[in-house]
Amino acid sequence: MIPFIDLKAQQERIRADIDDRLTKVLDHGAYIMGPEVKELEAELASWAGTKHAISCASGTDALILALLGKKCRPGQGVIVPSFTFAASPESLAVLGAIPVFCDVDPHSFNLDARCLAAALDSATAQQIDVVGVMAVGLFGQPSDMTAISAFAKRHDLWVIDDAAQSFGASWDGRPVGQLADVTCTSFFPAKPLGCYGDGGALFTDDDEVAEIAVSCRVHGMGKTKYHNDRIGMTARLDTMQAAVLLSKLSIFKDELAHRQRVADSYEAHLGAHVATPRLCDGATSSWAQYTVKLPQHVNRDAMQEAMQKAGVPTMVYYPIPMHKQAPYLRYPVANKALPITDALCDVVLALPMHPYLSEEQIAHISEVFLHALQEQTA
Ligand SMILES: *Cc1c(COP(=O)(O)O)cnc(C)c1O
Repeated sequence: MIPFIDLKAQQERIRADIDDRLTKVLDHGAYIMGPEVKELEAELASWAGTKHAISCASGTDALILALLGKKCRPGQGVIVPSFTFAASPESLAVLGAIPVFCDVDPHSFNLDARCLAAALDSATAQQIDVVGVMAVGLFGQPSDMTAISAFAKRHDLWVIDDAAQSFGASWDGRPVGQLADVTCTSFFPAKPLGCYGDGGALFTDDDEVAEIAVSCRVHGMGKTKYHNDRIGMTARLDTMQAAVLLSKLSIFKDELAHRQRVADSYEAHLGAHVATPRLCDGATSSWAQYTVKLPQHVNRDAMQEAMQKAGVPTMVYYPIPMHKQAPYLRYPVANKALPITDALCDVVLALPMHPYLSEEQIAHISEVFLHALQEQTA
């Protein structure tokens, strides 16, 4: 069985370094906000080229801290894609803000800037004050931040980039982290840059956002932990996880190059036979996922089953769009329907993707995929 994501191969490569770093943490004993956390934040800020990089407990917490930083209030609307992981709209809903669901581009899978006006109109028609846009770099490719930023500027909206999957990518030569007012990422183990538990970070050049996020990360602390300036949460990154991330960050650039190699190789094997992922001009991807679109008539369940039997796992990200999930049914939907989102949910299929796939494995996965596809279309 080929693993969908191979964390073992990665660990073998850096195990000695991780052991060293974890031993140091056990020796100094500063499990909360230890020196590794500060060191990691400095390295992350330098990677993204932002003034601030603030670590936290998860990608979802990063989104919530970013929204608190932007002073997003209950009842305010934020435009967000429906074709995403639950955490994007959930971060809004838990704060009492209103996700305004918008359609995506069928090729990039990301927020379609041409649909933003319809989302704004649909929300405004319901007397919702829209204050921001939450873009999502799905599967590793950043959204069209040029068009989204231009729209946001015209309508006086802020932009948060949910880069849980796209950290490490770039748009027009600028790294993810610099493409929005605030950028959030996740260090969940399966993400391109993952730790061995939960973790996340937010990136910004905005001093006020940074100050609020740092404060809210520890119960709204002020001068000290026992001066509480605002209502916050417990959202720190563990020192242990920071130590793991320092090790993983040291090979991240090389891993990103290998992810691109894997994507290129898949393209060479599959590009002529199925709708393979497309990068926009000027975009690079961190290839969190390699998602193809099956022909409409293909039975995806049968395809997955056949591939599984042949030792190749596949995943469906995402089978149900957020605007059709029970807790989100009451939120506004641009133009009352998201046809591209609905269509994508029915045809997407993600193949194994990680930096340690060999050319032989990619050839084998491709062969199994094409065989299953042939059987389904016969
Ligand atoms: C994983 C993910 C998140 C949430 O990250 P957690 O660390 O699991 O909280 C948010 N948005 C997207 C698009 C994700 O893929």
